[in-house]
Amino acid sequence: MCLSCDRDICPQNCPEINRKEIYVCAECLEGIVEGEIYAEIDFSCYHKACLEAKPLEDLLELFGCELHKAGLYI
Ligand SMILES: [Zn+2]
Ligand SMILES: [Zn+2]
Repeated sequence: MCLSCDRDICPQNCPEINRKEIYVCAECLEGIVEGEIYAEIDFSCYHKACLEAKPLEDLLELFGCELHKAGLYI
């Protein structure tokens, strides 16, 4: 259901319909519309919520980092 107009299918005057898609999220492939919070990583854009839903390992990989197990390796 739409949060702005409380209907399943928005009427033409719903503000949701009239918001412009500015970027496309590389995770869910849906539009990132005006006013939404997004992050740009390596020239790709992601909804904040899409990033929050990812496991930490995947996020770190996006950022070019990885987890290490601490220890002495000679
Ligand atoms: Zn609506
Ligand atoms: Zn997304």
